[in-house]
Amino acid sequence: MPPRVPSRPSGRSTLPPPRKRLGQHFLHDTRALDAIVEALGPLEGRTVVEIGPGRGALTERLVDRAARVIAIELDSQLAERLRQQYAARDDVQIVESDVLDVALGELANGPYVLAGNVPYYITTPILFHALAAPRPDVAVYLVQREVADRMAASPGSKTYGALSVNLQAFVDVRFVRAVGPGSFHPPPAVDSAIVRVVPRETPIIEPALEDTFRQFVIGAFGLRRKQMLRVLRTLRGVTPEQGEAVLRAVGVAPDARPEVLTPTQFAAIVRQLASAG
Ligand code: SAM
Repeated sequence: MPPRVPSRPSGRSTLPPPRKRLGQHFLHDTRALDAIVEALGPLEGRTVVEIGPGRGALTERLVDRAARVIAIELDSQLAERLRQQYAARDDVQIVESDVLDVALGELANGPYVLAGNVPYYITTPILFHALAAPRPDVAVYLVQREVADRMAASPGSKTYGALSVNLQAFVDVRFVRAVGPGSFHPPPAVDSAIVRVVPRETPIIEPALEDTFRQFVIGAFGLRRKQMLRVLRTLRGVTPEQGEAVLRAVGVAPDARPEVLTPTQFAAIVRQLASAG
């Protein structure tokens, strides 16, 4: 057990001002911070990778509970501040880098969970970056409310789209709670929310077809008001007969629109298209 050295950041006066360009909105609402930690589940004995620790409000809670914390921060001043704060802790590692340049699973080097009040300007790339195997056992993100709604949306709902399908093909998404702008310093212009993401036991699309699946889903929602037969004809150049045969084989009505199809139905179509050559 590494020594639990009490660690406090140096005084507030030494804090650099928030950098808008890096999406710096620091969470100070203790209930929201606790909700993130609670959504991660038991942390005893676990490795946590934190994205964008900033001034360390969440980090502080994680290091008290987990066996190991690896925090990835792009801002060199904040990274340096955290390095000093945790210098005496060999169970805390501060990595100064763009999170998108870091292979998260390799860095963790074993099972891990992921947490982050993520910079909103790169939320979607981060969500997909964290889908690369080996995936975290659980990931808890604080994101824009509108993104959280899209992540967790069900077929047929207003917010259901390519993001929902492309995530839900690999993970289960649960909306945890909303967080208002007043919970941050400085307050962002938008509402936020905490979401919990857990990998599906069996992803609904096989690794060899993942890229095709993602592209097909994005293309289909680019034509979201069109019927699926038209979508297939436009995206894949099939004849009406071929398109109908593909859709019939997977039990999807030719006049259904992309916005009502489940991720499983999208996967079935992509698989059928692949096997039909
Ligand atoms: N976790 C802190 C909190 O809750 O108060 C800070 C959250 S703030 C919304 C986002 C943090 O991510 C900032 O500290 C910012 O510097 C950092 N950041 C921005 N872009 C990043 C990137 N590409 N890779 C890693 N960290 C980044």
